[in-house]
Amino acid sequence: MSAALSAKGSVEAARNRCDPAVQRVREAGGPIDRASYVCECGYLFSAAVSTTVACPHCGVDQSW
Ligand SMILES: [Zn+2]
Repeated sequence: MSAALSAKGSVEAARNRCDPAVQRVREAGGPIDRASYVCECGYLFSAAVSTTVACPHCGVDQSW
């Protein structure tokens, strides 16, 4: 059980779990200024590596 999970976040994460944009980035090898992150909650997303990235699912900051 994780205290980081919230009801409203879970609904949105379920809808976005297979993000086509992330799939494209991974298949292309990834542009240099973006990276794929896998949060501790299991959510996969891509974001610019030069910014502070927070998980769109649970809001936890991702270390790079
Ligand atoms: Zn998360």
